[in-house]
Amino acid sequence: MAFSKIKKGIKKTLITGTIAYSALFATDILSNFPTQKIKSQKELEKIVYEEATILGMDTNIIKCELLNELAGDSIYGGGLKNQYIFIGGLLANRKMIKHELYHIYDGHGDHDTKLETELNYWFIEEPKAIIYSFTGLKL
Ligand SMILES: [Zn+2]
Repeated sequence: MAFSKIKKGIKKTLITGTIAYSALFATDILSNFPTQKIKSQKELEKIVYEEATILGMDTNIIKCELLNELAGDSIYGGGLKNQYIFIGGLLANRKMIKHELYHIYDGHGDHDTKLETELNYWFIEEPKAIIYSFTGLKL
């Protein structure tokens, strides 16, 4: 195979990969609009319990809080006795809970360096959490 053909192949793969990667993140953001919002702390706790049970997680270590402002975040890591999920506003929905739980379930966030943490987050952990929240697939 000629070198120019290989170069074209790499270029096509990079473009396709970038489009697929961007589409995944865009779909994740847009999918929050039509979903049913969680309205109370009690409802949030019930859904967190249900989804954590589906993943076979210890429900006692997962704390959650419904905020008034836009939030979809969690504090997690292997060394933590309690793992926290914060959601609110547009992101207060079941899909976001599944997303954040998957970060905890799959042991995301435990890396040696800041660079390793960033690269893992953007290219492995975040895509895996998005895919789980949509499909239930544990990659
Ligand atoms: Zn995430």
